[in-house]
Order: sequence, then structure tokens, then C-alpha cells
Amino acid sequence: MRTDTAVPHGFDAEHDSFRGELASVHKDGRRKWVYARQPSGRFYAARTLVSYVLMALLFLGPFVRLHGQPILLLNVLERKFIVFGLVFWPQDFYLLVLCVLTGFVTVALLTSAVGRVWCGWMCPQTIFLEMLFRKLEWLIEGSAQQQVRRDKAPLTADTAWRKALKHAVFFGLSFLIANVFLAYIISADALWTIVTAPPREHLPGLFAISVFSLVFYAVFARFREQACTLACPYGRVMGALVDEHTITITYDRSRGEPRGKLGRGVQDMPRGDCIDCGQCVTVCPTGIDIRNGIQLECVACTACADACDDVMRRVSRPQGLIRYTSEEAVRTGMPNGLSWRVKAYAVVWLVLFVAAATLIARRPDLDVLILRQPGTLQTTLDNGDVSNFYNLQILNRSNRPYTLTYRVVDPVGGSITALGPIGDVPPYGLVQSRFLLRLPARGISGTSTPVHVEVSDGGELVATVETSFLGIANEQEQGR
Ligand code: SF4
Ligand code: SF4
Repeated sequence: MRTDTAVPHGFDAEHDSFRGELASVHKDGRRKWVYARQPSGRFYAARTLVSYVLMALLFLGPFVRLHGQPILLLNVLERKFIVFGLVFWPQDFYLLVLCVLTGFVTVALLTSAVGRVWCGWMCPQTIFLEMLFRKLEWLIEGSAQQQVRRDKAPLTADTAWRKALKHAVFFGLSFLIANVFLAYIISADALWTIVTAPPREHLPGLFAISVFSLVFYAVFARFREQACTLACPYGRVMGALVDEHTITITYDRSRGEPRGKLGRGVQDMPRGDCIDCGQCVTVCPTGIDIRNGIQLECVACTACADACDDVMRRVSRPQGLIRYTSEEAVRTGMPNGLSWRVKAYAVVWLVLFVAAATLIARRPDLDVLILRQPGTLQTTLDNGDVSNFYNLQILNRSNRPYTLTYRVVDPVGGSITALGPIGDVPPYGLVQSRFLLRLPARGISGTSTPVHVEVSDGGELVATVETSFLGIANEQEQGR
């Protein structure tokens, strides 16, 4: 499962067995359960802090409101997205595509430059699994060693209640996460309606929450690291983005090899700093040995770096045998540099980022769209005026309300009669309505007459909209 085909610098063929097997799968194909030891160290402390901030953001995003809107909403059903006060409606789809594209290039750039830093530090899967579910598991079932002992021994009452409690807590948390997940999609208000109303009135919502809860429970209780190593598409493409210049969690073979246990072997034999204690493997949540080089299963969680730093401290050797560096820097002993690939991604990213930021900044606060209602015919009134029905759509991207008035400026003499609410537009609101546009016969030219409508708010012009008027006026009336 290595991503690179070349044998890494300093690699010993004696440790080559990992190439033909997955760390979390037995030779006969059965799942090999990974009992990861709890790491401790500077990286783990930093990750814990980052994870608490991100978890708070994830849990509170759809519920905390800014100007009456959630700070985060990903309503794919209505194609309405809110990101920290920026609202994207279906009309902003091109912007959304540009932002998603920028996001993909950001991930490609980050991965090429610093490996799977997203996986180790920011991915919700890693954060929930390593910083919530696994910590609770250690709390309830004990350390990794205690868990191994319990699982190998015959079932006892002590093991049974711990497992029952753990799975009950896991399911409760999965239910909570499922609710939050749904709040992101349908909004907190809609979720509250589902939660408080009788279940039979919201069967689809109830079904969705149940399915999400079961999926999250299955992922965090059973599937675990397999989500990263087998299912996640990002993990699959990592091999194409990472190269020998990528700065990621790397074992320094130049320093570590030849490895050997402390106090064993021929004393005058040259020895590297790795004492082959295996601590870096026992903390790994995907069960791999980082000393085999960059591997697809590595989620760059830094646990092995913390574990090895602790070992190095104890044996009075310099820390950083496993650290953030690149294969190239380890091989050559030179400082890390930026590869041409990273520079190229950075240029593309900058272009996309500037384009997206400029388009977002220049978006008008108000979008007014007037379209003639399809399938309707002109109506000729008693005084000879001709009228058409129109659909009106107003989209407010700002946090202020609007009270709009409309004036037909061209052709002169035209007027608008509302057939629904067309004046008041709430903050971040979408108003869809209809009106009747009446033109005097003398203002009509040909079968399609261009019409200009000025839209004002409190006397201030906010938009001038052009639409077309379909209709033919009576020649006699036109001459009046
Ligand atoms: S923790 Fe460090 S010293 Fe121990 S096996 Fe891993 S790399 Fe070698
Ligand atoms: S090899 Fe190290 S960084 Fe990679 S997943 Fe395992 S513990 Fe985390």
C-alpha cells in the first residue's frame, strides 16, 4: 500500500512485509482491530485544542445566528448556502462552483505541500473519532492494553457493562451528530419542527435522522479507520498529490537506521537512533508503521511523532526522529523546499481565489428579476392599454430589509399593478410574486417592446431592470 514505488532511502528489505498486506486486515481477510494507544505530547495537545474549536464550530454552526441567519447552512435541497454571513442562492451557482473549485485546488495545494494535514487536523471523521469517540472508549473500556486483555478473555460482567455503556454513549452521540448534520441541510428551525411535532407528521425527517444516526454509529463504532483507508476518495487521490518533496510526518531513516533494541546485539556495531520499541506503531490509529515510509493509510495524525519524541527523551537522544519533513530532505540532508508542483498549484490557487473573492465582493446586495409569465396572452383594456403578466423574483443578500417601489421609465406611461407582495423584502430574504404591467398603446412598438423598470428603496434607486413586453396594439389606439 505504499504510494511510492522506489525503495525509500535507508530502507531495509528485512522490513518489507508491509508491502503485501494491510495493517488492519489479517492475512485471511478478516478485520484486524486496531487498539490505538493514547498519545501524549506537543502535537497531541495542539490537535486537541484545534479539535475543540472545530467541534464547537461544527456543533454550533447551524444554531448560532448572525443577523437572524445561521452562520453555517448547507441546504442542498433548496440550494441555499450560508458561510459566515455570506449567502449563496441558486442564482449564485456559478460562484459556488468557483468556490468549490478553489476548495479542491486548496486541498491539492495543501496536500502537495504538507501532506494529509487536512486528515490529521481538520477532517470531521478524524476529529470525532480520535478526539471524541476514542477518548470516551479509553475512559469506559480502559487503555488499549486493557481493551486487548478484555477482548481476549471470556466475557465477564465487568466487560459486558462497559461495552453496553460504550455503545449506548456512541449511539447517543451519533444521534446528536445526525441531528446537527440534518440542521446543516434543512436549517435549525426545520429540525426543531421535526423534533417537537408528532413523529407521524414528519416521517421523512424522522427516517433521515434514524438513517444518519445508524450510519454515524456504524462509522465511529465499527468502520473507523477503514473510512480513511478504504472509503474516502481524498485518501485515494493522495498518492497522485504527494511526492518526495512533500513535508509530512516522516521517519528519518538516515538517523534511525539501522534500528536495534537497546542493550541487544554487538556493542561496536553502528546503530541508528531507532531503538525498535514499536511505540510509534502502537499509537497509530490506522495500525501502520511510519518507518516504512509514506503510506496511503497514514492520516498524518502526528501520534507517532509524539510517541517517538517521548522515547527519544527517555533514551537521551534528540527528538524529531519522526517529524514534519520530506523524504527528499531526509535523503539529501538539505532543508525542505517548495517543489515546482506546489508552486504551480499555488499560482492556480491564487488566480481562483482572487477571482472568487472579487466576484463575491462585487455581488449586488439586491437581485431583481422580472420575467414575462410564460403561457399568458396580452390583454387589451377598455381604454386601449395593453397588459402582460410578469413573474417577479427579488433576492436580498444583505442583512437589511428593503421596502421597494417600482416605476416604469420606458415606455412612458406604463404602470405596475401588484398581484402579490412585491414591496417588502426581509434581510437575506427571497420574494417571489406576480404583477400586471400595463402599457399605453402608443408606447408599444412591434410585437416585442423593451421595458425598463426602476426599482427604488426609500427614494433611492437600487436597480434598473430590463424586460420585454409582448403584444400588438390596435393601430387606431396607437395613433391617439
Ligand atoms: S517510537 Fe521511535 S524509537 Fe521507537 S520504534 Fe518508533 S521510531 Fe523507533
Ligand atoms: S503513521 Fe503516524 S501520522 Fe500516520 S496515521 Fe499512523 S500515527 Fe498518524
